[in-house]
Amino acid sequence: MPELPEVEVVRRGLRDHVVGRHIAQVDVFHPRAIRRHVPGAVDFAARLVGHSFTDARRRGKYLWVDLSSGEAVLAHLGMSGQMLVQPVGAPDEKHLRVRVSFADDGPELRFVDQRTFGGLSVEGVTEVDGVSLPTPVAHIARDPMDPDFDPVAAVAALRRRRTEVKRALLDQTVVSGIGNIYADEALWLARLHWARPADGLSRAKAAELLTAATDVMDQALRAGGTSFDALYVNVNGQSGYFDRSLNAYGREGEPCPRCGRPIRREPFMNRSSFSCPRCQPHPPGFQL
Ligand SMILES: [Zn+2]
Repeated sequence: MPELPEVEVVRRGLRDHVVGRHIAQVDVFHPRAIRRHVPGAVDFAARLVGHSFTDARRRGKYLWVDLSSGEAVLAHLGMSGQMLVQPVGAPDEKHLRVRVSFADDGPELRFVDQRTFGGLSVEGVTEVDGVSLPTPVAHIARDPMDPDFDPVAAVAALRRRRTEVKRALLDQTVVSGIGNIYADEALWLARLHWARPADGLSRAKAAELLTAATDVMDQALRAGGTSFDALYVNVNGQSGYFDRSLNAYGREGEPCPRCGRPIRREPFMNRSSFSCPRCQPHPPGFQL
C-alpha cells in the first residue's frame, strides 16, 4: 500500500493538473474499479460529467478530489492503483480502468490499476470540526502533516490505547497516515519495541515517537517529492527511493545503523516488524 508521502505526491499532482477543470466525459472500463460506488458505472459518470474538480485533498492515506456539486471522488489506490495525467490520444494503458476527459480537451485523468484492489467512488461529505470530509473519511484522525494537527491531543490519544504501541500508531483514528514502514522507522528512532504497551509510555516518550514518525514521513516526502513524473509511476508503493534511508524496515540481518547488532524481523498482524535487539529490547513478559 502507498504510504502518506506517496499519496501526498499524488495529491499535489492532481491539484496541479486537474483542479479547476470541467469534466466532459467519464469512461469506466472495468466494473471492479468502481465496485465501491454501489449505484454503478452510469451513476458514477453522471455524478462527474458537467461538474468540475475544485480541490485535491488528503487525510492520512485517504485521497480525494472535491467536485463542484459538493460531492467528492474518493480514490483508493490499493496495491497498484495509479493516477495518470496523459495527453488525449496517448495509447491506453493495459490496465486502464477509468478515464476522465475534460471540456478543455487537455490531458486526461486516467486511473490505472493492474491488480484492481483499488478503485474510485463518489461520496457525500460530512462536516467534522469545521472541515468537510468524504463521509467514509469522517472518522479518520488528522495526520501529522496537517497544519491543524494537534500533537498534544495526539499524544494523549496514543497513551489512552490499551494495546501495543505499534498497533496504536497504525490506528487511523488515533493519528492517521502512519503505515507499517514508517511505524517501524519511528519506533527505531524512539528506541521502542513495537509490543510496548501504549498506555505505559511516558508523555515525553509518546511525543518523541510521534515526532519521529512525522520526521521520517517528512524526509521521505522531501526525498521523493521533486520529480513529478517519476512519482506518478512510483505510486504503486514499490518505489525504491523511499527505501534508501530506512534504518530498520526491511533490513533483517543487516547491522543496526546505531549499534551494529543485526536487525531482527518478528511477525506482526500478518506482516512483519523490524527492530534492533539492543536498541529496542522486548518489554517484560514478551512472547511471540
Ligand atoms: Zn541498535
